[in-house]
Amino acid sequence: MLSIRDLSIKNKLIWMQVLTCILVLGLCFVAFVVTDIRGYKERKVTSTIAIAQVIGVNSISALQFLDNDAAKKILQQSEPDVVNAIILDKKGNIFASYTKTQISPYSFLPPFTDNYKFTDGFLYVYKNIIKDNELLGTVCLKVELSELQGIINQKIMIGALLLIVGITLAFVIAIINQGYISKPLISLITTIDTIRESGDYDKHVPVKGKDEIAMLSSEFNNLMEQIKLSNQKKDEFIGIASHELKTPLTIIKGFLEMLEDVELGEQNKFFVDRALNSANKLQDLIFDLLDVSKIESGQLMLNIQEFNLDELIDECISNIQTGNEKYPFIRIREYPGQIIWADRNRIEQVIINFLSNAIKYSPEVREIEVVTKSAKATVTVSIKDQGIGLPKSEHEKIFERFYRSTRSNIGTSGFGLGLYICAQIIKRHNGKIWVESDEVNGSTFYFELPIKNKQY
Ligand code: ADP
Repeated sequence: MLSIRDLSIKNKLIWMQVLTCILVLGLCFVAFVVTDIRGYKERKVTSTIAIAQVIGVNSISALQFLDNDAAKKILQQSEPDVVNAIILDKKGNIFASYTKTQISPYSFLPPFTDNYKFTDGFLYVYKNIIKDNELLGTVCLKVELSELQGIINQKIMIGALLLIVGITLAFVIAIINQGYISKPLISLITTIDTIRESGDYDKHVPVKGKDEIAMLSSEFNNLMEQIKLSNQKKDEFIGIASHELKTPLTIIKGFLEMLEDVELGEQNKFFVDRALNSANKLQDLIFDLLDVSKIESGQLMLNIQEFNLDELIDECISNIQTGNEKYPFIRIREYPGQIIWADRNRIEQVIINFLSNAIKYSPEVREIEVVTKSAKATVTVSIKDQGIGLPKSEHEKIFERFYRSTRSNIGTSGFGLGLYICAQIIKRHNGKIWVESDEVNGSTFYFELPIKNKQY
C-alpha cells in the first residue's frame, strides 16, 4: 500500500494544502448551517408565541361567555404553518379546536403552562390566557417547520459549491506553491547526479533566496568546493610522488638490465630476473599514476600522426606474446592496412592494455580474437576473450578510476587504472569505448576511432 512517506514532496505539499482547505471549509460550513438553523428556530419560536398571544387575547371574551364557535373562528384564522391549535379552559378541557389536516392528531402534552418545545419536526407552543391575574385557559399551537428542510438543502448546495471552488483554488495555489520547494530540491538532486556521473566538482547548484533550501544549496556548493580542493591536492601529490619515483626507478632498472648481461650463475640470475620483474611492475604503476595525474590536470596531450593501425596491432600482439606463447591469437581484418590519424603511442597503450587484460582475466588458456572493422569515417577494434567475463552491472563501472570487478578476485593484481586511462585516451580522440561481456562467454572490449583526428 502506498504510504504518505512514499509520496514525493511535491505531492505531499499539494495534498497537505488541499486537505487543510477541505477541513477548514468543512468546519466553516458546519458552523454556518448550525447557526442558521438555530436562528430560524429562534425566529419561529418568537413569531409563534406572538401568534399564541394574539389568539389568547382575542379569545378572552369567547372564554368568558363560553362561546366555542367564536373561539373556533379565531383559531381558524391562525397562520398557515399552524397544523393543530386548541384552546383549553382553565380546568384543562378542550374549549375549541382547529386542525389543518385530519391526519395530524392532537398531540399536546401537559404541563399547559407558558413553554415551547421541538418534537418530531414540529414546534409546540403553550401560552396561558390571563385576564386580571386570573387564568382563563391556554392556547396550544402545533407548528410545522416546513421551511427548515428547504433552508438545510439550500445551505448544503451553497456549501458544496464553496467546497468545489475552494478545493480547485487550493489545488491551483498548492501546485504553484510546491514549485518554490520541490524545484530547488529537484535541481539539487539533478546536480548531485551529474556530479556523481561526471566527477565534475565544478558544477554548482543555483542559490535563490534566503530560505532553508537556499542554505542547503549553498552548503552543498561549499562542500563541492572542498572536495574539489582536496582532489586537486591528492592529484598534485600523486603527480609529484610518481614523478619523484620515476628517476630512481629508471636507474635501478638500468643497473638490473646491465646485470642481466653479466655472467652471474643460476641463482643470482634468478634473483636479478625477479628484481627486474618487480621493477617493471612498479614502473607500469608509476606510468599509470603519471597518466592519471595528466588526465586530471587536463594535460594529456596527443601527438597526432598518420600510421597503419593493422601494423600497430600486429606489433602489439607480437610483443604481448613474448612470455604468453601458449595463448593463440586470431587476427581478423576487414580492410588490411587501415591508415588512421591518431596518437600512435597512446593507441598502442590502449591495445596493449586490452590484450594484457584478455590474458590476465582468462585463467584457462583459450583463443583471443582481435578484429578490425572499418566504416566510412571510423574504425573499430575489438578484442574478444573467453575468460571470466563481467556482470552487466559492471560494464560501465570498470572504466572508472580505481574500479576493480568483484570477479577479478582470481589472484590477479592491479589497481583498476588501465581501463580508466584507456577510456580517457579514446575520449580525447573523440572515439567510443565499451565492453560486451557475460560470466559464461567471456568479454569483448571495443574501441572506435574517427579515421581522421585533428591535432589537439
Ligand atoms: P586492473 O586490471 O589493473 O584491475 P583495469 O582498469 O585494466 O585494471 O581493469 C579494471 C577491471 O576490469 C579489472 O579489475 C577487471 O575486474 C575488469 N576487467 C578488465 N578486463 C577484463 C577482461 N578481459 N575480462 C574480465 N574482466 C576484465
